[in-house]
Amino acid sequence: MAVLDILKYPDQRLKQTSAPVEDFDDALRAFIHDLEQTMRAGPGGVGIAAPQVAYFYQIAIIDVSARPKTPNNGCMVLLNPELIHWEGVAVGREGCMSIPDYTGNVIRAEKIRFQARDPQGELHEYYSEGYEARAVQHELDHLNGLLFIDRLVSRRNDLFRRKKALRVHREEVFIVEGLGR
Ligand SMILES: [Zn+2]
Repeated sequence: MAVLDILKYPDQRLKQTSAPVEDFDDALRAFIHDLEQTMRAGPGGVGIAAPQVAYFYQIAIIDVSARPKTPNNGCMVLLNPELIHWEGVAVGREGCMSIPDYTGNVIRAEKIRFQARDPQGELHEYYSEGYEARAVQHELDHLNGLLFIDRLVSRRNDLFRRKKALRVHREEVFIVEGLGR
């Protein structure tokens, strides 16, 4: 097991589009293990996408289950995910392990339905809302080479410098990858 290095903005590789996973083999599952370790090594990391560790395949992990009173699907390992339906919009604060010094207000769909393969290659359908839906959309964006700062309506009004001390503060802990209040 290993904690992998995270690419940081403005590394241009973060803009790369990731390719679909084709081989659902042991090498893939070993990588997923490392990716999950890397997510959990960050303070309060609730999501991670493979391109953040310079592996350009459509792999994302989301787990918001540690957050109180948050509807969730547990730990989801999403391979080749596709959004199939969305409803409603909401503004929420997001942060990203690849942009450690900032958070931003981002408009996202409130409720989503999506499908993805699991590490064995089986296709599943999921429903998410609220905070988890936001985290999923944030990670799916990474697979398409998009960062939350690409979705700000206004950098001037919607981008916030993170106070270093707050990074380990309890309430800030969940903002690190993917979510808002
Ligand atoms: Zn991110």
